[in-house]
Amino acid sequence: MATHLGDTLPDASCAQVSDARRRRDESDPRRETEKPNCRIKHRALSTPAPTARSLWQMGRIPYNASVLLAASMCLPPGGSPHEPQPSDMTRSPLPIESHVPAARLHVATDRPPKPGGRFVLYWMTACRRTRWSYALQYAVDWARTLDKPLWIVEPLPLGSRWRNARRHRFMLDGMADHARRFENKPAGYYPFVEHAAGQAEALLESLAAVACVVIGDDHPMPRYALPHRSLPVWSEAVDGNGLLPVRAADREFARAFDFRRFLQRSLPDHLPAAPKADPLRRLRLPAPGRLPREATSRFPAAMFELLLGKGTGLAELPIDHDVAPSAIRGGERAARKQMRRFLDETMEPYITLRNHPDADATSGLSPYLHFGHVSAHEVFHELTDREGWSPNRLGEEASGRREGWWGLSESAEAFLDQMVTWRELGYNLCSRRDDFDQYHSLPDWARETLAEHAADPREYTYGLDELAAGRTHDSLWNAAQNQLAREGRIHNYLRMLWGKKILEWSATPREALERMIELNDRYALDGEDPNSYSGIGWVLGRYDRPWGPERPIFGKIRYMTSENTARKLRVEEYRKRWQ
Ligand SMILES: Cc1cc2nc3c(=O)[nH]c(=O)nc-3n(C[C@H](O)[C@H](O)[C@H](O)COP(=O)(O)OP(=O)(O)OC[C@H]3O[C@@H](n4cnc5c(N)ncnc54)[C@H](O)[C@@H]3O)c2cc1C
Repeated sequence: MATHLGDTLPDASCAQVSDARRRRDESDPRRETEKPNCRIKHRALSTPAPTARSLWQMGRIPYNASVLLAASMCLPPGGSPHEPQPSDMTRSPLPIESHVPAARLHVATDRPPKPGGRFVLYWMTACRRTRWSYALQYAVDWARTLDKPLWIVEPLPLGSRWRNARRHRFMLDGMADHARRFENKPAGYYPFVEHAAGQAEALLESLAAVACVVIGDDHPMPRYALPHRSLPVWSEAVDGNGLLPVRAADREFARAFDFRRFLQRSLPDHLPAAPKADPLRRLRLPAPGRLPREATSRFPAAMFELLLGKGTGLAELPIDHDVAPSAIRGGERAARKQMRRFLDETMEPYITLRNHPDADATSGLSPYLHFGHVSAHEVFHELTDREGWSPNRLGEEASGRREGWWGLSESAEAFLDQMVTWRELGYNLCSRRDDFDQYHSLPDWARETLAEHAADPREYTYGLDELAAGRTHDSLWNAAQNQLAREGRIHNYLRMLWGKKILEWSATPREALERMIELNDRYALDGEDPNSYSGIGWVLGRYDRPWGPERPIFGKIRYMTSENTARKLRVEEYRKRWQ
């Protein structure tokens, strides 16, 4: 059956597209140089033998279907260059009945599973959620196959030097949600809050010693991933980070355009095998019983009061209490509420309003995506559901262009370009290089031009404390910094300006990089994310090209000013609110 839904937008829509694109492009400093093109081709669905991909595109397999086809689809005979390589695949020594795609599985410890062990352990560190989670789904699959109890342990480690009351509170909100959610489920949930560094790892080791297998999260930043060091039992890390399995990209992408083109070629293979919306639904497993006393007496579960924010539990933790909790709540429930509010209220005008700080029309989802409280798959599903989308609207040509490929409204496409292209580009960066936060990882041209201007006189320079306190001569910048310091977020557009000014006001570009990382990761709820380093790198030329005219300090690096921003965008309410 050949169903060609290929269409060209009617002229009126074409004019609207151009008009909106022009408006949007004028105010988007990350705009790429692309030729406008209103022709949107759609994929012809005339394949000789239906594959899972074509069945999905024809609507014969629902988006969130549990299809073995979807998993097997990741292992085509011969494979194509952009499909995952066999070395990335799990080599599970037991036949596990699972629909989680092999491209998302990674062996962390290659030791035999112990079917006689006491339980299957899911160590939850990156995808901190109970819905739309490949890792939880996979752990359930193991427990079912072995007919063993399932324990989910969610550690809150002290971790990095930026651990603070703000991010701890946000994660504790999520743990409180989970404690409630698991109350009536046949799986055990154990929230664990570290009081001294190293406790979480010791807990993992002691539980792994009696587990059948350990399932954990995969993540390009090792601190969020299941430790890839030797556990005493078979352990696998599962990638639930984004729409594209992180390891499916076999190289580092230097431009968003190239990564987008790669996504347009690859995503149709990966989209059908979405995670189950609710892997705990109708779950039947042996009762979890109790975790071994040796482990629970040394590492007791967090008290419910601490999870709920009652008592002094949080104040007693050895973390930075100067960065106080934000008014923004964390957790799966808050994430879902935020997602639905955005999709119902501000998604439609996203394309025209997202850059205006006064409109505050972006999704606000980055902290939830960062902690895994919401899945990119769920957001994608909810969004496409509202637009009555079906996969046969995907464009045929992988052109790398931002518009037209998804076959969705302009606003939805603009939003997906952020949530998929730009977000997953950051994951690509951190998965391909360990020095993602180092100055020498910036493109050669950027380091060269910055070096040529390193000694240029600076009209203003500020110390880190002055910056942190939002005490500069620039009231718009101060407002952005104040929002960051008090609320833990910063308006999307102003985040770019914020970074550019730090470059302008620092003694050297290296110092600017250190300060951006310090301020971003100290205060932002979504800090210490792959996108922290791709975003900060962007300020210094990553993913960008040289711009003229060459300017003092910036050289050929793209330049932004508060005056231009205030002229182009609505900022006055924002400025007053955060002064
Ligand atoms: C200097 C600088 C520092 C940054 N630090 C971080 C950070 O610590 N953590 C973080 O998640 N993002 C960071 N970003 C990227 C971006 O600013 C935020 O993701 C965005 O502001 C989040 O707001 P939102 O959820 O309302 O975005 P929306 O516009 O609603 O976008 C939806 C989602 O797309 C992703 N996204 C949006 N813009 C970008 C972008 N430019 N790059 C990558 N992903 C994007 C985010 O996951 C976001 O939640 C930084 C950007 C810059 C320039």
